[in-house]
Amino acid sequence: MHCPAQLRSKLPDVGTTIFTVIGDLASQYQALNLSQGAPNFDCDPRLVDRTVDAMRAGKNQYAGMTGLPALRSAIAAKCLARTGVAYDPDDEVTVVASASQGLYAAIAGLVHPGDEVIYFDPAFDSYAPVVRLQGATPIPIKLTPNGFRIPWAEVASEISPRTRMIIVNTPHNPTATVFSADDLEQLAALTAGTNIIVLSDEVYEHVVFDGAEHYGVARHPALADRSVIVASFGKSYHVTGWRVGYCLASAALMVEIRKIHQFMMFAADTPMQYGFADLMQDPSTYEGLSAFYQRKRDLLVGALAGSRFELLPSAGSFFLLARFNGFSSERDNDFVLRLIREHRVATIPLSAFYSDGTDLGIIRLSFSKDEATLLEGARRLSAV
Ligand code: GLN
Repeated sequence: MHCPAQLRSKLPDVGTTIFTVIGDLASQYQALNLSQGAPNFDCDPRLVDRTVDAMRAGKNQYAGMTGLPALRSAIAAKCLARTGVAYDPDDEVTVVASASQGLYAAIAGLVHPGDEVIYFDPAFDSYAPVVRLQGATPIPIKLTPNGFRIPWAEVASEISPRTRMIIVNTPHNPTATVFSADDLEQLAALTAGTNIIVLSDEVYEHVVFDGAEHYGVARHPALADRSVIVASFGKSYHVTGWRVGYCLASAALMVEIRKIHQFMMFAADTPMQYGFADLMQDPSTYEGLSAFYQRKRDLLVGALAGSRFELLPSAGSFFLLARFNGFSSERDNDFVLRLIREHRVATIPLSAFYSDGTDLGIIRLSFSKDEATLLEGARRLSAV
């Protein structure tokens, strides 16, 4: 087909997301896929049963715009039990059609043209483009080169009267670091007395290792008041293809987020919401997740012990960073392509998460995979 209209791209420098590019290459070369943070194993069969039950019972029409009441109540109850913060299920909880959509609705609802939004590189790839689509300016700040921590003094110096939002993410994709109580204190201190809203991407809230706790923004009451939390059922229940997540925010913020959500999706899928509402009654469905993924992390780390990669610490999330520049001077993009073509294993180059393409000679591995895939992936990586 041929479009006769003159097109001016709204995101001229943005291509197809790295997860799709690498996923396509992985299928083309029949490579083992350790790239996307998507499980290749089944979810709890009860979740499918309850969802199918809902479909058979005719729950196939629009859910309420803000989400199924039983699910919103379950989400609020979980948050109260974990943090002591009470979100009103009617006004302060919204079920969204994926965390990605929740992030979009939060940014579009709360960021104005001319605003500045601080975020941290390396970052999930949607933040900056969505900020730019609002006519606002993303301000990337690099995490520290050692340990990938937030350089709070630098954040303080970047805050200006135009700063509308700070986007944080814990556990962190792609670096697998997690917030400490001190990170929350610093963030609270920097934003106190300002109009800055914190957007907190907490999709890996239930995946924190080695006995550490999840320091999400709801753990700090002053921060919770000025924050939007975005979370994911896909990540917590091994169903990333179902596209259901949720947002938590004070009612004043949520009103604006819902104005966008209603015109993007109107509502998230109905039968799945019945399934999640039912499974959430049993807290063990998410409480065991840290231990479950820690075993996967340890399996992959153990299986890569004899390889040439230097493995960086993974404190949470589905990810493990592996440094290859000790034995190869290739650019990370080239290295990843070579791994796919010659070793038939797919990973993500860390540079894809940097707005300026910084290349540290590191790749990201996802261990949200079954044992056989992890062992075979490690075997192929060890042959490099
Ligand atoms: N969060 C997933 C990852 O980082 C990808 C999500 C997506 O592709 N939208 O691998």
